[in-house]
Amino acid sequence: MMATSATIRDRLRPTVEQLIPARTGVAFRVDAGDYIEVVDVEGQQAADFWAFHENDLGEYLSAPHTRIGLMHLFPAPGEAFLSNHRRPIIRVVEDPVGVHDFLSAACDPWRYEELGHKGWHASCQENLELAMKRAGYGAVGTPQPFNIWTNFHLNPDGSFEIRAPESKAGDYVLLRAEMPAVIAISACPQDITLTCGGNPTDVLVRVLR
Ligand SMILES: [Zn+2]
Repeated sequence: MMATSATIRDRLRPTVEQLIPARTGVAFRVDAGDYIEVVDVEGQQAADFWAFHENDLGEYLSAPHTRIGLMHLFPAPGEAFLSNHRRPIIRVVEDPVGVHDFLSAACDPWRYEELGHKGWHASCQENLELAMKRAGYGAVGTPQPFNIWTNFHLNPDGSFEIRAPESKAGDYVLLRAEMPAVIAISACPQDITLTCGGNPTDVLVRVLR
């Protein structure tokens, strides 16, 4: 299986490529069957990922529904994230790094306040809101994202700790949309904890067919 899956990205052609500058977000639509490649440009960067059904933003990639559907913490290559209507919404195709978080909320203004920051700070929650608005979509809540490369290490005693991502420059994850979807991605602006190795950087996204 590995040998077959390793060739999928090579067989695809990018139709759109967009740089997500450090600390910002984007939203865009994809068709069912489109591949989405997310690239860590400089390494050790966390990217928060959301997916919503194009025709009903109230149906979205859902962490708790995915976990019970799979009976484990995170989809392996070939498995899909489920929506809150328990339907496959995004499939993991290739995942060479394999270390992500699927337990934690997106960073938001209150998180930075809690960490002692005074005044405005960019956040994944605000990046989602702004990106959806710019792309012409209505308001959405902030579902728990798929936190690509976020390395919240889970200990056997149930505690977890924030470690720097294991991703290096050029590392990617390849996903496939299972329904027409609106995708939002935030290059996480977390610069207080080790979530982004202490230094938020750019993320690149490609839509491939
Ligand atoms: Zn964040």
